[in-house]
Amino acid sequence: MMNKLIELKNLTKNFDDQQVLRGINLDIYEKEFLTLLGPSGCGKTTTLRIIAGFEEPSDGEVLFNGIEISKLPPYKREVNTVFQKYALFPHLNVQENIAYSLMAKRYRQSGLIGKAATLWRSISGSLTAEDKKAVHEVLDMVELKNYALRLPSQLSGGQQQRAALARALVTKPKILLFDEPLGALDAKLRLKMREEIRHIQRQAGITALYVTHDQEEALAVSDRLALMDKGQIVQIGQPEELYSKPANKFAAEFIGFGNILAATVNEDKTVSLEGGLILQNVNVPPTLAKGKIYAAIRPEKLKLSTNTINGSPNCFTAKVTSRMFMGNFIKYTVLCQSQIFTVNIANAP
Ligand code: ATP
Repeated sequence: MMNKLIELKNLTKNFDDQQVLRGINLDIYEKEFLTLLGPSGCGKTTTLRIIAGFEEPSDGEVLFNGIEISKLPPYKREVNTVFQKYALFPHLNVQENIAYSLMAKRYRQSGLIGKAATLWRSISGSLTAEDKKAVHEVLDMVELKNYALRLPSQLSGGQQQRAALARALVTKPKILLFDEPLGALDAKLRLKMREEIRHIQRQAGITALYVTHDQEEALAVSDRLALMDKGQIVQIGQPEELYSKPANKFAAEFIGFGNILAATVNEDKTVSLEGGLILQNVNVPPTLAKGKIYAAIRPEKLKLSTNTINGSPNCFTAKVTSRMFMGNFIKYTVLCQSQIFTVNIANAP
């Protein structure tokens, strides 16, 4: 088991009289890629900002390698953030933007003489050989070597995002925080960039905390993800775990179950859906062995057939009410005993 790099203990945060974090407990392990996932306003960014040091918690603790850091200013933390709006300096080229990040760190951390030397180097534009090497290393890592002398306005959105990533990486933080980093990019580029971020995170061997409201993105990139709702963590686990065993109705809806229906578990372990359908052989967790529940049925697990299969368990007559071509699958809406179901059928070549 890896070491715990960050521990959040019972974190709360109030803005005026609104409690936006209500007891967050979370361990982040070294080198893992952990995502905070949840709807807008659930407190993801606030949690990230507390770790970065931009906000102080109202109560609770933030431990970094076992040491409480809630009162430590951002620049004294071994943390760096990649924002959605890259925050690159428009008048500095890529290389200078990255070097600035290094200089700023040195300046804050050095004594009087060191500060003067750093200032002189930044005015004269001269970097130490060590810093030059560090800048070139990260440029190489994000594949922007040939763009080192370009201004941000001369870069595409994806390239700007990579420059921002390089600038965050160059100070060698222990943890990189990503606040909706791909929000400004179009759908196709988002897919590409999320793979690149994941690749670079692994290559650099760095811990990452990633904030997104996009469940598909979260499932694709994370080692573990923490699902948040109204200032609390609802469920935490590996993507497969959240996908196959959502902890409650909210988790099932958010992870994209598609068909969530009020239901009752019967004495004989069958499940009656609202509307009258009775399902057999249902995987009912022991804690829900009786009474009212929600049944979550994945659209891709349902099948459609024109054959009548009288009497087979979990086979019912239904009417297709709509059909939508989605590329690699077809999305049907069917009506079955007054219930509407979504059914996704893979589009075989
Ligand atoms: P999004 O995905 O929309 O960015 P989020 O999950 O990151 O949402 P937060 O930004 O953490 O949510 O905000 C949580 C709640 O706290 C929201 O209701 C927001 O309006 C409120 N909030 C955040 N910052 C402040 C602030 N500085 N002052 C007052 N309220 C704030």
